[in-house]
Amino acid sequence: MMQNKMFWFIMASILLGTLGGYYFPTEMLSISWMGKLFINLLKLIALPLIFSALVSAITSIGNVKRLGSIGIYTISYVLLSVSFAVIIGLVLLNIIKPGVGMPPELILANAAPEHLKPLDFGSFLLTIFPPNIIAAAAKFEIMAIVLFSIAFSIACISVGETAKPVIQFFVGLRNIFVKMIIWLMYLTPVGLFSLLGTAIAEAALQERLMQSIKGMMIFIIVFLFGLFLQILWQFAIIKFVTQKKAKEFTRDTSNAMLTAFITSSSIATLPVALVAAKKQDISDEVARFVLPFATTINLAGTAMYEAVSTLFFCQILGMDLSIFSQIGIFVTSIMAGMGATGIPEGGLVTMVMVLRSANVPTSAIALLLPFDRILDRFRTMTNVWGDLVCAATVDHFTKRKEVKSTYKQKTFFRESAA
Ligand code: ASP
Repeated sequence: MMQNKMFWFIMASILLGTLGGYYFPTEMLSISWMGKLFINLLKLIALPLIFSALVSAITSIGNVKRLGSIGIYTISYVLLSVSFAVIIGLVLLNIIKPGVGMPPELILANAAPEHLKPLDFGSFLLTIFPPNIIAAAAKFEIMAIVLFSIAFSIACISVGETAKPVIQFFVGLRNIFVKMIIWLMYLTPVGLFSLLGTAIAEAALQERLMQSIKGMMIFIIVFLFGLFLQILWQFAIIKFVTQKKAKEFTRDTSNAMLTAFITSSSIATLPVALVAAKKQDISDEVARFVLPFATTINLAGTAMYEAVSTLFFCQILGMDLSIFSQIGIFVTSIMAGMGATGIPEGGLVTMVMVLRSANVPTSAIALLLPFDRILDRFRTMTNVWGDLVCAATVDHFTKRKEVKSTYKQKTFFRESAA
């Protein structure tokens, strides 16, 4: 019910923001603090969310050892699929370049320009390995926090039993921040109204509005095409690797895809995905481990979104797009995807991290806000599809391994008897 109301509030704020920005640009600029406040709140939650979400996601890999080959197959699949997604996105953006020619004021209207100083390699290393993690957090050096959380999680796993309460604590903390994000999302219409209005007011004052709309539309089409390619190569995995009937697989998983589209949440879709896995004869052991695990970590559509959006903003701002900075975007997008935790618009919150490490002002998010709700539905579908293909693939390899080892045992006994 609230979801429905929210949809209409968002539509109203898009309409009012657009009209306000176009017809009353000066007034809109005078209330730009409202949008800045919304961005501040996003940033406020992003940091602790990323830390606790990464610690809970990575430490859950601790169980992987127990699950042996199922765990190894799952992690390999997740890394492969998320990397592919980001690469597809980056390649498309590099070819089509939707951001080139769009007015930088669209982003700078809501931002402090001092964020835009480029980092050289040495200073980059010094920022990601700071002497004081609290000071780094205060300066919003997200990459440092991410690396610290990875090291912290690995240490938790290797300490074992006595670190369990700490892990539990971070799982609880993550759930609390997820709740806070859900609350914050109720403020989206207000933030959207002001941010969109400010951006449009700036563009209107400079008479470059049409150019901006065209670029935005191209960006959206390119991103949706990227998601389509991501779904397509995994479709090929179903057909050629798992040798399942692709048509039946699509039919059995369609309910889960629909739920993903409706709820915009991989986590909320999990129960339906489990039913789909059962229909496809994926073993319970595999489904019960792979699906919950993949739901929190295999967010390929989200990772692609983080990467293409950041590159898009860099193009608008006319920033350095060297291979070095794109590798940076590649790595942080994967991390941000993992931190997004499968909730509605989680990807939008963790995007702050990718933008920050690419030196793009976080207010750039304002450009995406009017479209994020709908784009979220498509990337959630892509995420859930990826989780189900992951489960089917892991199941295929696990069964094949079992058949092989039973065969080996049988021949061993036959030969020993002879
Ligand atoms: N809503 C997405 C999911 O649940 C996450 C995101 O991209 O915001 O998979």
